[in-house]
Amino acid sequence: MIFECVNCKKEVDTQGNIGTRNRNHCPFCLHSLHLDRSIPGDRKEACRGVMKPIGITFKNERKDKYGKEEVGEIMIIHECSKCNVISKNRIAGDDSAEKILEIAERTVNKKELKEVKRQLFGE
Ligand SMILES: [Zn+2]
Ligand SMILES: [Zn+2]
Repeated sequence: MIFECVNCKKEVDTQGNIGTRNRNHCPFCLHSLHLDRSIPGDRKEACRGVMKPIGITFKNERKDKYGKEEVGEIMIIHECSKCNVISKNRIAGDDSAEKILEIAERTVNKKELKEVKRQLFGE
């Protein structure tokens, strides 16, 4: 299915080669629509507000078998501009790395920013 992004108006293919099953945000500007209620992809939410990317975080950190902290994958924090619900979403393989970095630079600390860059660019 192809939809037009509510924010940047570019065409987005939900079936793109993205590594996750349900694309829920635009790969160019990372905005999405508030469509899912409890599970990603359920499309049960009637709000339909614009979900804005407001921050970057990581999936739950866990300790590896040596007790060293492992950082999980990058997650985008979205906030609905209509009902203010907050949701965390996995990034997709074709999401704009520049855009993710831009948000990360505003919202995470130095150590986390280094991790974001490592995950995005393998630095
Ligand atoms: Zn967009
Ligand atoms: Zn909403």
